[in-house]
Amino acid sequence: MYGAHVSFVCPYCLRTVPLSESTVEHEPPKSRQKELGIPSKTYIVCGECNHKKGALTLDEYREWLRLETIRNGGKTK
Ligand SMILES: [Zn+2]
Repeated sequence: MYGAHVSFVCPYCLRTVPLSESTVEHEPPKSRQKELGIPSKTYIVCGECNHKKGALTLDEYREWLRLETIRNGGKTK
């Protein structure tokens, strides 16, 4: 079922990614739960987003992605 051709759409960067690159992401990050006081939900996201997002919340990460897009001259991948 999880063959090489199976893909999913990452809810963060909206790219279509092979399922083999999927990772489980906690939003908000587990390390920020105490600070934010809200329980984490888990999402399936691409490895790149999970790596880049790190301890950012989804809002912070979206802002970061937006700024990176501007830095790259407005081009998305
Ligand atoms: Zn992604």
